Amino acid sequence: MEGKRSILIVGGGTAGWLTAAYLAKFLDVANRSDLSVTLVESPDIGIVGVGEGAFPTIRTTLQFLDIDERDFIRATGATFKQGVRFDDWARTPTAGRHDHYFHPFEAPLYAPDASLVSLWLAENPATRPPFAEAVTIQHRVAEERRGPKRAEEDGFSAPLNYAYHFDAAALARLLADRARALGVTHVEDRLLGATLGDRGMIAGLEFECSGTMTADLFVDCTGLRAELIGKAIDEPFVSVRRFLFTDRALACRVPRGDPDAPLPSYTIAAAHEAGWIWDIGLRDLRGVGSVYSSNHIDEARARDILGDYIGRPELAADARLISFDPGYRRRQWVGNCVAVGMAAGFLEPLESTGIVLIEAAAAMIAELLPPSGPVDASADRFNALMTARFDNIVNFLKLHYCLSRRDEPFWRDNVDPGSIPDALRDMLDRWRCRPPSRFDFTLDVETFAYFNYQYILYGMGFRTDPPGSGMPDTGRAATAFARIRHFGDQAVDDLPSHRELIRQINEG
Ligand SMILES: Cc1cc2nc3c(=O)[nH]c(=O)nc-3n(C[C@H](O)[C@H](O)[C@H](O)COP(=O)(O)OP(=O)(O)OC[C@H]3O[C@@H](n4cnc5c(N)ncnc54)[C@H](O)[C@@H]3O)c2cc1C
Repeated sequence: MEGKRSILIVGGGTAGWLTAAYLAKFLDVANRSDLSVTLVESPDIGIVGVGEGAFPTIRTTLQFLDIDERDFIRATGATFKQGVRFDDWARTPTAGRHDHYFHPFEAPLYAPDASLVSLWLAENPATRPPFAEAVTIQHRVAEERRGPKRAEEDGFSAPLNYAYHFDAAALARLLADRARALGVTHVEDRLLGATLGDRGMIAGLEFECSGTMTADLFVDCTGLRAELIGKAIDEPFVSVRRFLFTDRALACRVPRGDPDAPLPSYTIAAAHEAGWIWDIGLRDLRGVGSVYSSNHIDEARARDILGDYIGRPELAADARLISFDPGYRRRQWVGNCVAVGMAAGFLEPLESTGIVLIEAAAAMIAELLPPSGPVDASADRFNALMTARFDNIVNFLKLHYCLSRRDEPFWRDNVDPGSIPDALRDMLDRWRCRPPSRFDFTLDVETFAYFNYQYILYGMGFRTDPPGSGMPDTGRAATAFARIRHFGDQAVDDLPSHRELIRQINEG
């Protein structure tokens, strides 16, 4: 079939359907006879169905796929996410004393005459406002349970940067509908095995009902089972467990009591003795789960911690256990097989990087896949970019843990210099003398920007030497922060409550 290309995606979770829809749209599959995209999934196996938090890049992806924001919000029971509130990450709570910091999606406000970060660093650490409160209005807007926009504003745009919380299974169904409309062929069948041909290329896949299927490019979206890249091709797995210790999650759903109760527009990430708990407010319920290190506590203790947090031990007892090894395949594109989603790798749920990595991989495959000639022409480039992305995310996630002053063994192990990647250690050394800058990063392989690092560093109490002579410029700082407070007050007056915004969108 000279000049024709066929792409076979195995797996119908978020990775499979998002990749299918993205490729179909980008390559205009519905209007081409020289290209086909087929997705095969096994309804018997099902999808992992967790992962209720996204990153702002999801807006660009949904918009690219011509999905209407309101339709998306209604179909997936979505709410808005303006960032993450980290509870008790810096210190072990004692005598009921808790603390928290906020990581907003919005960059620090731009001040034409001074760097807000420098002004903040020069202030007295004992009396200055928390970093996120000082440099952005989003902290205040989120704290006051306001939404990031008004219901009548255009889809996907707002004065403040945002993402969503959503029902993960409903998102996969929505993406499936969109992919089919964009020309993707959908087959329900179970993969039994693969036949390898020359140079380790996949020659064909064997399915329970359809028999043998062939393609030019096979996309492994089979989740943690990694049927192609792992079981068939046996590409080595790079574990990052020496840096990121969590390897288990318990996930459950908590019914929402009062339907009029205030709805947080941020994920709560509450640290516990050997990991952390996510608490996500969806339209109709709460998604709550605990991530922990099995080297530090056992499953029974993890269920107790989750039960105490929810106040409903019976829900924690029934919570679904998911085991994972944090890491990624050494090469994610091998010959005519490319892995996307959890088949390619998974680090941990912190900061919701699962879907971001799927978006990055789908966009790269779409642009790098040659229309003719060897399908693996761009494999090395893809692998270099994806590996760098994974490694950079490891650094960012580790930053959350390695600055903690908590006293439990899990946290002490996390600050052990031997558990900190060299690249992160180097950056921390630099940031003792000056704050993170955009020049610390190469944009194409980054998920997080310099200001994301600033929010975590200064939220955790990291000390950067004050700039200049070290003399605080109290007047300018006070004026700048007062202006931001004033803008924050105005935004709180102007924006609807998050609960009301969700109601208007669902009823509108
Ligand atoms: C505890 C936890 C929390 C997470 N939280 C977040 C988060 O907040 N934000 C975020 O972005 N990401 C998060 N993630 C990651 C996110 O869940 C995944 O990236 C996302 O759901 C994509 O999963 P997937 O499509 O790769 O795999 P799956 O959803 O598992 O899909 C695998 C598909 O492959 C099919 N399949 C498997 N074997 C076969 C076979 N033999 N034959 C045919 N079909 C087969 C299955 O039927 C299914 O359709 C989280 C992950 C975990 C484990």
